[in-house]
Amino acid sequence: MANHEEQFKKLVSHAKEYGFIFPSSEIYDGLAAVYDYAQYGVELKKNIRDYWWKSMVQMHENIVGIDSGIFMHPTIWKASGHVDAFNDPMIDNKDSKKRYRADVLIEDHCAKIEAKIEKEIEKAAKKYGEAFDKEEFVKTNPRVLENARKIQEISHRMNHDLEVNDLADLKRLIEELEIVCPVSGTRNWTEIRQFNLMFSTKVGSVSDEANTIYLRPETAQGIFVNFLNVQKTGRMKIPFGIAQTGKAFRNEIVARQFIFRMREFEQMEMQFFCAPGTEMQWFEYWKKERMRWHLSLGMPESAYRFHDHEKLAHYANAATDIEFDFMFGFKELEGIHSRTDYDLSRHQEFSGKKIQYFDSDRDESYVPYVVETSIGLDRMCLAVLSQAYTEERLEDGSERVVMRIPAKIAPCKVAVLPLVKKDGMPEKAREILRDLQPLFMCQYDEKDAIGRRYRRQDAIGTPFCVTVDTDTMNDDTVTVRERDTMRQERVPVKEIAAYVAEKTR
Ligand code: ATP
Repeated sequence: MANHEEQFKKLVSHAKEYGFIFPSSEIYDGLAAVYDYAQYGVELKKNIRDYWWKSMVQMHENIVGIDSGIFMHPTIWKASGHVDAFNDPMIDNKDSKKRYRADVLIEDHCAKIEAKIEKEIEKAAKKYGEAFDKEEFVKTNPRVLENARKIQEISHRMNHDLEVNDLADLKRLIEELEIVCPVSGTRNWTEIRQFNLMFSTKVGSVSDEANTIYLRPETAQGIFVNFLNVQKTGRMKIPFGIAQTGKAFRNEIVARQFIFRMREFEQMEMQFFCAPGTEMQWFEYWKKERMRWHLSLGMPESAYRFHDHEKLAHYANAATDIEFDFMFGFKELEGIHSRTDYDLSRHQEFSGKKIQYFDSDRDESYVPYVVETSIGLDRMCLAVLSQAYTEERLEDGSERVVMRIPAKIAPCKVAVLPLVKKDGMPEKAREILRDLQPLFMCQYDEKDAIGRRYRRQDAIGTPFCVTVDTDTMNDDTVTVRERDTMRQERVPVKEIAAYVAEKTR
């Protein structure tokens, strides 16, 4: 664990030092849970967003995109349930004065029990070697079974308390589990209170006329309230989807773990409208499809798992998370939810407008059912960065930090480097650069020895370095060096663009 924490700290400082992500307002000592994307971070984020948009919108003839406002009519948040129920249970430790999410404290406690199980398995695997049957061991070892039972019991009680809003029992649970504040080490807790996560502000210049409105906590509602407009103007036939990317805002109680939990973040959501009774089939479809998307990026399968929800939101009839193995454990990266006809029905009720679809195949009108896929763009950036960060010791004994970012989303695709700053090499390199710039994000670097320049490109994850040397001046070929293998090959100048395009597709 300590090792992972150490790695995570290194990643955060690497992200700052090499221009991926800066803390917000740093010269004023920062603003908690808000981050700014720097020169390479912004490219990475844009590439992930574009890759999502392309696969969800461009590649589906029945999915279209929109871009709705961040501010919306306040009644929308009444209808969606956010005004009354978008709460997190918070609890304070009276000694440290630190605030926590009660459910997170309990989940962290369960994670510790889970770690005990993992340790037990590791020990047994060592002891039995080749002959070790993990599945059998987990099913039969009394200590593992006892710990698994504990986790199940705790989760079950917590979910029940949250569902019926029994905050007193939730607190009793924290007391019974003897959970201490990680800062003060004491069990001196306040009562648990519900805390609404929406930010509000006023519209209108005259304060008397001012109305409270909210900064959207999700992009989904902008899609629901535009359902009729899009369906009619796009002549969309069910099943079809509407996609949107954009900022969302949540006044998170505890903001930890860098860009994993922010107060201002970006979502990429798609609401898929289907006929009642077909939603489970689409839920399964989108589960598979979204996992395929992650793997198609070149992310490793072992870093992913599904976590089906035991506790369903009041509007859902099925829900799963795609979890990613971040440096601090498996955590939610994306949610896939079958939201029934809840949202559209509620907007129909609150707006007084009929929100229905006439299905000519069924010869009937109905409120469509919805399956949603919702992923945090910032969390995806963190997943990519944590997966990419690699420290390597090379054969010559030197060390390098290389960001193994999948080439298709790497911030910068190619760097052009003259071997030395003379003999016409810089001019030739700039000529090549000018040809590549319309096609790719490129860099030009002529400062320092070539080895140091390669390291700088490794640190920002540039997949290819093109070096102009003496031979280039004679035969019009360059050395192309690949980031991960550090292998070099000779490529004719006129083929560089096709070479890089092919390998960064
Ligand atoms: P969590 O349980 O981690 O608070 P959630 O279940 O509230 O997340 P959803 O409402 O399902 O999250 O939002 C969809 C996606 O938006 C999440 O899977 C996550 O990737 C992203 N997301 C949610 N809250 C934040 C946040 N505060 N910062 C960054 N990304 C977020």
